[in-house]
Amino acid sequence: MVPAEAAAADEASHHMPVISVRDLVKTYVVGEVTVRALRGANMDVEAGEFIAVTGPSGSGKSTLMHILGCLDRPTSGQYFLDGRDVSRMSKDDLAAVRNRKIGFVFQGFNLLSRTTALDNVELPLLYNGGSRMKTAERHKRAMDALNAVGLGERHHHYPNQLSGGQQQRVAIARALINEPSIILADEPTGNLDTRTSIEVMGIFQRLNIERGITIVLITHEMDIAEYGTRLVRFRDGKIQVDQKIVNRRDAAAELAKLPPPEPEIDIPADPVPAEHLGGVS
Ligand code: ADP
Ligand code: MG
Repeated sequence: MVPAEAAAADEASHHMPVISVRDLVKTYVVGEVTVRALRGANMDVEAGEFIAVTGPSGSGKSTLMHILGCLDRPTSGQYFLDGRDVSRMSKDDLAAVRNRKIGFVFQGFNLLSRTTALDNVELPLLYNGGSRMKTAERHKRAMDALNAVGLGERHHHYPNQLSGGQQQRVAIARALINEPSIILADEPTGNLDTRTSIEVMGIFQRLNIERGITIVLITHEMDIAEYGTRLVRFRDGKIQVDQKIVNRRDAAAELAKLPPPEPEIDIPADPVPAEHLGGVS
């Protein structure tokens, strides 16, 4: 490539949003009822942004996330992911794009209960051609992901032996396993107490700043939204507000000022039978 071309390509790659949606419409038809969940949403997201999506219940946030995550397709409109229109792709092609580029985190953690933290984190590798990957390599990648969320030493624990915050960290490690460029999180702190919520937001901020992972996080809590770089507010299936967040909150700095956490106690693998707990008999 001659220098001018190289410069032009470089310029183009810098200015191409990772996510671009145009006139996005999603209509659900349930029996006789038509629900217009998205009514023409437009948004560009640059690499490395941390978007906080807010809005009342039913305003279309989760519907948007399902489309951004290639879990569903819009009724009309376009979705460009890294410059490629994915809105008309086949389900198989969407699944391939999703596995390569996107990690998901949900409110309810969605871990398999009879499966250790390590195996939960490895699971996406088995669906992504990773079954060809050697067992030792899978373990190593899963341990790296668990270490990135500070849970390496709990890799052998089952979900019921972990606190809610720890379970969500396992879910974040699972989202990281395919080295996604985008993480989509739907109310990830919805089931967590205040301190644990700040810890989880600290992990998202670290992944965003240190690894440059683009984050789109849905929350109905304004104080959680303020950890992002940009606020997008939905109302009735449309974007009503789209603005930069001034005075972004810094989770690590806030945690340093909080009193130390109560020690994390290991819950025994075999809980004491209920009749020994002094309940009414
Ligand atoms: P939010 O996440 O902001 O609460 P949703 O995107 O979940 O909103 O929902 C937007 C609207 O679409 C709501 O009226 C909801 O009931 C409806 N909706 C969402 N998913 C479906 C579905 N699979 N089938 C039918 N209606 C749906
Ligand atoms: Mg929702």
